[in-house]
Amino acid sequence: MAHHLPEPFRIKMVEPIKLLNRDAREAAIKRANYNLFNLRAEEIFIDLLSDSGTNAMSQKQWASMFEGDETYAGSRSYFRLAEVIKDIFGFSYFLPTHQGRAAENILFTCLVQAGQYVPSNNHFDTTFGNICARGGHPVNLVIDEAHNPTLNHPFKGNMDIQKLYDFITKVGVDQIPLGMITVTNNAGGGQPVSMENLRSVSKMYREFGIPFFIDACRYAENAYFIKLREPGYADKSPLEISREMFALADGITMSAKKDGIVNIGGFMAMNDETLYEQARNELILREGFPTYGGLAGRDLDAMAVGLREGLQEEYLRYRLGQTAYLADRLREVGIPIIEPPGAHALYVNAGSLLPHISKEQFPGHALTVELYLEGGIRTAELGSLAFSYPDPETGKMVHPKLELVRLALPRRVYTQSHLDYIAEIFSKTVARRSEISGYLLTYSAKLLRYFTAQLEPIK
Ligand SMILES: *Cc1c(COP(=O)(O)O)cnc(C)c1O
Repeated sequence: MAHHLPEPFRIKMVEPIKLLNRDAREAAIKRANYNLFNLRAEEIFIDLLSDSGTNAMSQKQWASMFEGDETYAGSRSYFRLAEVIKDIFGFSYFLPTHQGRAAENILFTCLVQAGQYVPSNNHFDTTFGNICARGGHPVNLVIDEAHNPTLNHPFKGNMDIQKLYDFITKVGVDQIPLGMITVTNNAGGGQPVSMENLRSVSKMYREFGIPFFIDACRYAENAYFIKLREPGYADKSPLEISREMFALADGITMSAKKDGIVNIGGFMAMNDETLYEQARNELILREGFPTYGGLAGRDLDAMAVGLREGLQEEYLRYRLGQTAYLADRLREVGIPIIEPPGAHALYVNAGSLLPHISKEQFPGHALTVELYLEGGIRTAELGSLAFSYPDPETGKMVHPKLELVRLALPRRVYTQSHLDYIAEIFSKTVARRSEISGYLLTYSAKLLRYFTAQLEPIK
């Protein structure tokens, strides 16, 4: 991959970032009760917590916002966005929402009854939560290869077609109001789904008469992976590949905070008129009138421009190249990562770096704190702090298989020298890894505890 090409943009507005000295970083993380979610932006040098809504907008996007039309109903901004969405995604109807989960909430409110099932490769956590909130059961049917962190497979986000068939025939079509797939598979390491797999999934859902919705947040990155890795797609543009993907589905939910390269926004799109009418009524109740859906007119314009930019080939080459570049630098200094790297993030196997820290003492979390102390870098723990839960019968903690630390890359925000710096800080941190100790949880909420947890280092 041509990741030696420089960034396809130059910088004309800068946001200063500052590395606090070691004493100040120590004081900050202590004040934060060793939870990186409690840090303030000015205490962070490089922020890899999330790629969601952290994107840098282009001059065209900012310029388009000046033309934002704040008319309550029938805004020009809405029609400009509608044209772009029609062109890329092709569905008959669309509704803007303030972000992805709002679209999920509306979709499941319309379709899912208590006790029903929604299969996918892996549901993202907000999708999972919104299905559960309707009393439904989210089901993950990704291929087994996805569970092997070192296995190199071009499309580790693929659905296991046999498992899908077995599942549908077991629970029955009546119990499955819709089927989904997430591209790229965020909860499964940002791994792409192949066109061949999408075709098989679509065919199966359609044969059973199950409406097929794509969670499309990173569809452009997925399209570019298809171009690079799937036979027959090398000469197709990301736009052509995207259209082919969406022609296989009956609708989508979308967080434009990802591949729409905006700071806020989302939408849903579908072909079914009855569903559209039902969703539109829900939208009016929860988000706003259908020509703004919880957003300002200017946000719709920024989204319209961002969706186009997110499909540009030079941009996508840079985007996937950046992740591949950082993966190379990390491998060079001996950091074990989930292979192959995805587009929006890298996942470091903290469990294998810190084998002396038990799962009860949060090895992934320990690594995130040390990276902050070493170089002011904020990353996200995706291990026993985020995912362990008490077994409902025995009360014993059930731990996830892997102790991961995620490095999410905001779009168009950091340069190659920032990436070199990240690798350098990793190298310095693991050089003293035997001295890194585990953590004790001193406060923990019942649900999603990692957001508000308080911890202290075990001396
Ligand atoms: C971010 C995300 C969502 C939810 O979108 P929000 O804009 O954060 O509400 C849903 N699915 C996937 C795969 C995501 O990455």
